Amino acid sequence: MTTELQGKVGLITGGTSGIGRDTAVLFAKAGAKVVVAGRRKAEGQETVDQVRAAGGDALFVKADVSRAAEVQALVQKTVEKFGRLDVAFNNAGIEGNWKPIIEQSEEDWDSVIDINLKGVWLCLKYEIKQMLKQGGGGAIVNMASIGGLMGGAGAATYNASKHGVIGLTKSAALENATSGIRVNAVCPAVIETAMGERLFGDPEINKRVLRLHPIGRFGTSKEVAEGVVWMCSERASFMTGQNLVLDGGFLAGPSPANLLG
Ligand code: NAD
Repeated sequence: MTTELQGKVGLITGGTSGIGRDTAVLFAKAGAKVVVAGRRKAEGQETVDQVRAAGGDALFVKADVSRAAEVQALVQKTVEKFGRLDVAFNNAGIEGNWKPIIEQSEEDWDSVIDINLKGVWLCLKYEIKQMLKQGGGGAIVNMASIGGLMGGAGAATYNASKHGVIGLTKSAALENATSGIRVNAVCPAVIETAMGERLFGDPEINKRVLRLHPIGRFGTSKEVAEGVVWMCSERASFMTGQNLVLDGGFLAGPSPANLLG
């Protein structure tokens, strides 16, 4: 047990699996009460059970982040249950259909942008309103990706959504800097989750993408959760409007293995 988030109330979207689930458990271990939001009730309840097994307190709220009324109700239910909202991790996202732009449909674009970008915007809107109502103060982390910092052939829609998240993060940070609400983003490379498996599970693709991670492996949900807890804690009190890149060296440049064959 640590105490970085002692007495805080935290909200995590997409908390029904992967990075969101492990961050919910780490929020609780750091002392926070946690609201786990997602679309899948059974998986959400499983996260709540894991939080309780770690000695914490949690509530699952069914919510689709692309629907304004559901996000508004999510923040309202958080306050009804735990009295306030101090920290939030806007993590929910989908990968969409990875194929060239010319082969993508309007629905491919709309679904990814609705969830990954509009979803974060809606969360920011209602979370910040609540934090301001409490008198200011708080910390928010938005889930971006290294795809928000670089192009990706075949991943245009996903990468556009994550670039957008970084723009939203910087703008929200500026709008709220004097209110003491810090807003940052996290940018992981490939992380071993259901999404990571869907995108890079094929052995050939896996081998190729692994070589882009100089550290020699993909990241874990727990490693992302550690960065998120730190950004939400007072230890990161001078950080706002920034992206924390967790990428095993991906963006540092081509690894020696790539250059030497
Ligand atoms: P995941 O598929 O396990 O988790 C995504 C979660 O978001 C799921 O629980 C899903 O149900 C939820 N979700 C999807 N649409 C939603 C909606 N409309 N409303 C509410 N919840 C919704 O995969 P993950 O890897 O844990 O992904 C979490 C986040 O991390 C995503 O935003 C993803 O883009 C980002 N990310 C993942 C990787 C990776 O390699 N796994 C790398 C960088 C960024």
